[in-house]
Amino acid sequence: MLSIWEKESFLEYDFIVIGAGITGLSAALSLREKKPHASILILERGLLPTGASTKNAGFACIGTIGEKLHDISLLSEERVVQLMLKRWEGLQLTRKRTGDSNIDFEQNGGYELLLEDKSESINKIDYLNTLLKPYFEKPVYSIASHLIPSFGFNKKMVKGMVFNHVDGQLHSGKMIQKLWQLCGEQHIKIITGAEVISLHESDKQVQIVAQMLNSPESAICFAASQVLVCTNAFTQKLLSDVQVCPARGQVLITSPIPDLPFKGTFNFDEGYYYFRNLNNRILFGGGRNLNFEAENTTELKLTETVQHKLEWYLREMIVPGKPFSITERWAGIMGFGKDKAPEVRRYSERICLGVKLNGMGVALGSKIGEELALLSIA
Ligand SMILES: Cc1cc2nc3c(=O)[nH]c(=O)nc-3n(C[C@H](O)[C@H](O)[C@H](O)COP(=O)(O)OP(=O)(O)OC[C@H]3O[C@@H](n4cnc5c(N)ncnc54)[C@H](O)[C@@H]3O)c2cc1C
Repeated sequence: MLSIWEKESFLEYDFIVIGAGITGLSAALSLREKKPHASILILERGLLPTGASTKNAGFACIGTIGEKLHDISLLSEERVVQLMLKRWEGLQLTRKRTGDSNIDFEQNGGYELLLEDKSESINKIDYLNTLLKPYFEKPVYSIASHLIPSFGFNKKMVKGMVFNHVDGQLHSGKMIQKLWQLCGEQHIKIITGAEVISLHESDKQVQIVAQMLNSPESAICFAASQVLVCTNAFTQKLLSDVQVCPARGQVLITSPIPDLPFKGTFNFDEGYYYFRNLNNRILFGGGRNLNFEAENTTELKLTETVQHKLEWYLREMIVPGKPFSITERWAGIMGFGKDKAPEVRRYSERICLGVKLNGMGVALGSKIGEELALLSIA
């Protein structure tokens, strides 16, 4: 039962964004740039954003050669390059908005570790550099195998290494917090603990029913002229005809390892595994390719299979012979599509989608948010 004060103050908006991850927050900020006087509300089901944006590894990267070769088998060369550029542009937009020091941004580059006979990436360096030549001053990829001994990796397992000088890294929590703060400064309201359970569109507006988690009696009906859906992996629960496949990512962090000899971001196995030096601790994640079916879930749980494999790689390959313990473990949920392309489209007259960030939203999220905002006012 709502009071007249609540009805007159909280319920009606020009734009409602659903989801307060990087895509939703960025979409709201881009909307504000175009619509200085519009009323904008973000509804977020968690008390904190509860998808991927505050649970990721903070790699701000355009992609490894192994990943790109895989992408080119699914999309055309042109689309793969476009997607890399979108990641690059998205990152520049985030940096411009937040300021590097507020999000601990560092451009230390990214390395692809080549295991066993995976020398294909080295053979394709010139090919990828030629595709990217019109857009970057220097060749993006170069051989870095000579650094393997000084980084301390197990030479029997790591056969080669490719460096990418444009990749960066950041603190995902600080990034979301800063975007959140900017939303506040731009008079964009955010309500947390509000799960949108249904959308009802008429020719005048969309009614958005939201409630506290598992509490139907708390339901409130909001209304907006336009709705921007930024719920990534969780979209199908709200709009059952939108195909976004959830994919869980598991992460762990080690205790401090003195004099950790590497910095930058590191990937192997087509990007299915990734690690970085986080203040002399290793943040290490991935392994969903060990059991795609089990990891195709929205459940925020850890599995022994993945966690054991991560620890095994740490001990055998990444820091062999160095003592450490595991101090943190968590999981987050990504949203994937059949190909690697994100989906920004009009779903209906008054509802637009910006979903399927395909595990690369740290760099891409601001760009997708911007594209979505422009679409919603077109
Ligand atoms: C473990 C892990 C590591 C990763 N590492 C990297 C990386 O290093 N680099 C990289 O680029 N990408 C990485 N990613 C992927 C990246 O985090 C995502 O692509 C990006 O965060 C997606 O942002 P988003 O805003 O679209 O979705 P999300 O961050 O998932 O945000 C969606 C939000 O919508 C909310 N929501 C969902 N349904 C509803 C509803 N019905 N009502 C209200 N709110 C709702 C959710 O609670 C959530 O907060 C990683 C992901 C994971 C899980």
